[in-house]
Amino acid sequence: MAVDLHSHSHFSDGSDSPTEIVEQAAAMGLSGLALTDHDNLDGIEEARRAADRTGVNLIAGIELSCEWELGGMHMLVYFLEPGEGALQNRLAAVMDSRNARNANIIAALNDMGIEITLAEVETEGGGTGIGRPHIAQVLVTRGAVESIPEAFDRYLAKGRPAYVNRDRLGPEEAIQLATASGAVTSIAHPHTLGLASDDVIPTLSRLHDIGLIGLESHYSEYDPIERGQYVELAESIGLVATGGSDYHGAYKEGLSLGSGFGDLDVPDYTIERLGDRIPHN
Ligand code: AMP
Ligand code: FE
Ligand code: FE
Ligand code: ZN
Repeated sequence: MAVDLHSHSHFSDGSDSPTEIVEQAAAMGLSGLALTDHDNLDGIEEARRAADRTGVNLIAGIELSCEWELGGMHMLVYFLEPGEGALQNRLAAVMDSRNARNANIIAALNDMGIEITLAEVETEGGGTGIGRPHIAQVLVTRGAVESIPEAFDRYLAKGRPAYVNRDRLGPEEAIQLATASGAVTSIAHPHTLGLASDDVIPTLSRLHDIGLIGLESHYSEYDPIERGQYVELAESIGLVATGGSDYHGAYKEGLSLGSGFGDLDVPDYTIERLGDRIPHN
């Protein structure tokens, strides 16, 4: 059986509810699912109710955007339960900074003569976990751009005129807080790290030494050869090869939960391997 360890609901920048995602997982015959909304655990309670009803093994998680100069480092965190905890408490500040940044992005767009309001963006995002994809969608709806990727290319991506930075955790802080919270971390879509090939093994080894557990090897956008290479790389460093679709519903077209662009197949033993690495503090 297969699992999917990377998905986003409308509690961040996905379009589907946690219930819909869990029900899709069940309908597709997935045995396990991780809900990994950006920076927050607000969808977990709802997802867990649906999981209990359908028999899907739900892993509570998040995806954190870390401070990383070379490129984008996204850290998946698994077995992170809602409530109090070292990382959970730090997330409140991250969400505050995210909300302040959204307002600043909209102000920058207004300064460029593009009419867009925070209220519209909040309506688009359903009120919680607002992010750049919702701003991008409103720019599409208003006719300022033709597609979400174009909105990023012209305005919202790093280095573009409406880019605004926000509070992010460094990789060390993310790994240490996750470990203190009894959770495990895995680097998402590792090609975005922007590492020169000679730096890949030393960098991942250094992160492994401070407690990194996994490397997302089975990713929608990788072909079978790349997936195999990442699995080998992960295992050579002592990391668990994880995987997931990065499902966002309507915000990422053509991508299905579980099967990605059609050929994704994340083995179910992945969850057991990650579970074996849960820190017991
Ligand atoms: P935020 O967390 O609000 O900074 O938004 C980051 C999210 O925007 C990512 O997780 C992706 O879902 C999406 N995103 C980032 N860059 C792009 C891009 N170039 N094209 C389309 N979507 C993007
Ligand atoms: Fe996203
Ligand atoms: Fe990501
Ligand atoms: Zn993601």
